[in-house]
Amino acid sequence: PTMAHSKALLVLENFIGGKFVPCSSYIDSYDPSTGDVYCRVPDSGKEEVEAAVKAAKDAFPVWSSKSPLERSQILNKLADLIEHDLEAFAQAESKDQGKTITFARTVDIPRAVHNFRFFASSILHHVTECTEMPTVGCVHYTSRAPVGVAGLISPWNLPLYLLTWKIAPAIACGNTVVAKPSEMTSVTAWMMCKLLEKAGVPAGVVNVVFGTGAKAGEALVCHPDVPLISFTGSTLTAQRITEKSAPHCKRLSLELGGKNPAIIFDDADLSQCIPTTVRSSFANQGEICLCTSRIFVQRGIYSEFLKRFVAEAKKWKTGNPSDPTINVGALISKEHLEKVRNYVKKAQAEGAKILCGEGVDPLSLPPGNQKGYFMLPTVIAEVKDESCCMQEEIFGPVTCVVAFDTEEEVIQRANGVKYGLAATVWSGNVGRVHRVAHRLQSGLVWTNCWLVRDLNLPFGGMKASGIGREGAKDSYEFFTEVKTITIKH
Ligand code: NAD
Repeated sequence: PTMAHSKALLVLENFIGGKFVPCSSYIDSYDPSTGDVYCRVPDSGKEEVEAAVKAAKDAFPVWSSKSPLERSQILNKLADLIEHDLEAFAQAESKDQGKTITFARTVDIPRAVHNFRFFASSILHHVTECTEMPTVGCVHYTSRAPVGVAGLISPWNLPLYLLTWKIAPAIACGNTVVAKPSEMTSVTAWMMCKLLEKAGVPAGVVNVVFGTGAKAGEALVCHPDVPLISFTGSTLTAQRITEKSAPHCKRLSLELGGKNPAIIFDDADLSQCIPTTVRSSFANQGEICLCTSRIFVQRGIYSEFLKRFVAEAKKWKTGNPSDPTINVGALISKEHLEKVRNYVKKAQAEGAKILCGEGVDPLSLPPGNQKGYFMLPTVIAEVKDESCCMQEEIFGPVTCVVAFDTEEEVIQRANGVKYGLAATVWSGNVGRVHRVAHRLQSGLVWTNCWLVRDLNLPFGGMKASGIGREGAKDSYEFFTEVKTITIKH
């Protein structure tokens, strides 16, 4: 709040029908690394959403009738323009979200660029189905068409990365969109809007309304002219979206939270497993839906693993996100930092051991970052499976390590949460890797690696981690309506 007087704040505007339009009220957005307000985000509501949906509806007939090749060329152009400004986007993402500049430069923005290139390419390669019934003289075939105006709602952890993972397939398929990024991380979406015209995206094809979930998000979900909603965020919000969209029977894609296990057998290659599991626990401050937060280690290697894992975790440096040597930046908000810290306190109260990080090691920050929302990578041991730290999504730099004895036991325990997004399995035994992967209740299983993605293949969770999948074919199916046509000859 103090900064409002000293420096001009960045003020964002909604992007509707190809134009930036101011809003009647605004929300403060904080720089998580300093705790200062530095940006004002439109506090959009029904009126702004109405205007955006109208613009998207008006743009639909022309955009949907373009050929996939024409749309593909525009998506590629947009990818080039974002890539050209990669450094500016990375700086903005880091400042807005608190993530390290290194992560923004190497993961967030390159992936946003790749999302457009990937769908620009994949849209050219889909084929529909055809069957024949010679005895009755018929052929059947399917045809796919864009649905209309897609509502896209994304979270704060990987802002441009996840928003473009929705925008790219939606418009590649010929839909027009109204997107609402998280009110806490809106800047890079606004920057992208500045490039749309130059890329050749016609006015109204991509509209962005900024604001809170309760106001702008809900207005989008409830709008009768938005037949499909693609949402990434928390399970709680997904429940609300499901309720609110039920009267309209909307098509929903829900990518939600996780409580992801890593299962480490005694024949695992620890020299690979330990650094990767430290990364899977603490990358992006643990604020990735795929982050590991329950580590099951087979008893024979438990104490060695713990010693080496903690030593490796301690190497991760926490501090000013704009310093390229830093591994852990700031958490998204003061409230979120408090929530994450409270989990550590609860674990302690239950008798668990905090082996490093929060409350154990000193956190020293540069003078300019004293009021930022920082927390050290924290490792908890001797925690019970029933503990909230082992059951609930913490979404911060906190991971729990526990011992197990048998394969059967660890499968039961790994599956013993309400979530089912991603799991990792570490073992040198091929048979075991397959057996365990098949039995885990998890939309994604990585063995002897983490976060290696082929965007062609389905991404998404089971149980409370979501409904639906995204990927080349899955996104195409979600963002198109299929029709079966029968021809008698
Ligand atoms: P959130 O659910 O609070 O918010 C996500 C988005 O929904 C934001 O844009 C928010 O403004 C909006 N929103 C909130 N209430 C709404 C409502 N009533 N109607 C419509 N929109 C509403 O989630 P978050 O805190 O921003 O993100 C963190 C969560 O996202 C974590 O649970 C994480 O696991 C999950 N996540 C999942 C994936 C995945 O692919 N499965 C990826 C990243 C994050």
